[in-house]
Amino acid sequence: MKAEIIAVGSELLTPDRLDTNSLFLTEELNKIGIEVLRKTVVGDNRDLLSEAFRDALNRVPLIISSGGLGPTEDDLTRETVADLLHRSLRRNDNILRYIEGRFRALNREMPEVNVRQAMVPEGAEILENPRGTAPGLWLEDGGHFIVLLPGPPRELKPLFREQVLPRLERLASSTRMFHREIRVTGLGESHVEQRIMGIYKRFPEVNTTVLAAPGETQVHLRIWTDDVEHAKKTLDEIVSGFEIALTDRIFSQDGSPLEEVIAAELTMHNATISAAESCTGGLLAQRLTSIAGSSLYFLGGVVCYSNELKTAWAGVPAELIQAKGAVSAEVAVALAEGIRRRVGSTFGVGITGIAGPGGGTEEKPVGTVHIALAHAGGVKERGVRFPGDRESIRFQASQAALDMVRIHFLYNGKQPSIRA
Ligand code: AMP
Ligand code: MG
Repeated sequence: MKAEIIAVGSELLTPDRLDTNSLFLTEELNKIGIEVLRKTVVGDNRDLLSEAFRDALNRVPLIISSGGLGPTEDDLTRETVADLLHRSLRRNDNILRYIEGRFRALNREMPEVNVRQAMVPEGAEILENPRGTAPGLWLEDGGHFIVLLPGPPRELKPLFREQVLPRLERLASSTRMFHREIRVTGLGESHVEQRIMGIYKRFPEVNTTVLAAPGETQVHLRIWTDDVEHAKKTLDEIVSGFEIALTDRIFSQDGSPLEEVIAAELTMHNATISAAESCTGGLLAQRLTSIAGSSLYFLGGVVCYSNELKTAWAGVPAELIQAKGAVSAEVAVALAEGIRRRVGSTFGVGITGIAGPGGGTEEKPVGTVHIALAHAGGVKERGVRFPGDRESIRFQASQAALDMVRIHFLYNGKQPSIRA
């Protein structure tokens, strides 16, 4: 089944408020095989609201709206939809008593305006809302289903789960969405696209999106079917094609972030890691420790920003910094070897670079980063120039460092050099 969502509220058209209800609704609908084809955000205006519902009714069998069920003048959803479907509004005394009861419990008189919330379009089912005053409404009209929900997320979410979901589950067919998320690093969005386009274009029934994210490119595959085997076979086939086209650039096939992949590798290999970070300021350590159980593999590290502390804390010879500069392959290597030696870990990572926006030179422009990974068999170093702003450069540096660990495991430490 296909659906549309209509988010009602003028506040959603200001820079201060975002329609988050539709994200929740989309996720819940997808889970039961209902695809959302369109979302509309519309202000508290009777004509525009009416038009939004009328248009959606022409396109899909299911419409879910949020907002505009409040007691005030600008809350128009109930009246507008009743008008559109030529249904009269009737006062429902059960709802009225319930609303009065809520006010009484707070020792207050119910304001006259709240009577509006007890008005129900003819033939509508009432979706009780114990967390607020306005109930939700379920309407059926000429093979269409129209669900009106209150705007506050803390009311909408439980109301949807408790009352709407069971009704929809009965309606929906067994069609479900099957999803895979492939993550790639070290290859930009357009390069990924170029390499995989020929593969996914052969499967028009699969919806494929390539998304750029910091330090990585994500490929989402979605297929809607009631045939589990077919979905699995099709997605497997596409992913196998991607594995050939993207080779070792794929780090995740289930959407897990790189730090999680590395955590699993380190744990599996009983390996430990430490880091001496300059330009990333502890970001690598932060990412490595963001995962539960990180004490199994992360021993510690230092943020050594000044040259003196690179020497004092990671044992980088002062003469080396003098001769090569703090941002250099040699210093990255010394940081990695130094921290590994001091901590006694399986791996030591050294990161030094220029995150900008100042501090760049012609020889070493902003974005220049050197990353080294030291282990028992030696040390590997990578010099890269990352694009983007300070935050992005720092993230990409941490991502590249994690990727060096991944590549080390992938090739059992035998790979001579790391491809970009
Ligand atoms: P209403 O049912 O229109 O009275 O909405 C009441 C409140 O719910 C609004 O002031 C918002 O804070 C919140 N709200 C309404 N619509 C949304 C939405 N689509 N996403 C998130 N919050 C919403
Ligand atoms: Mg509103």
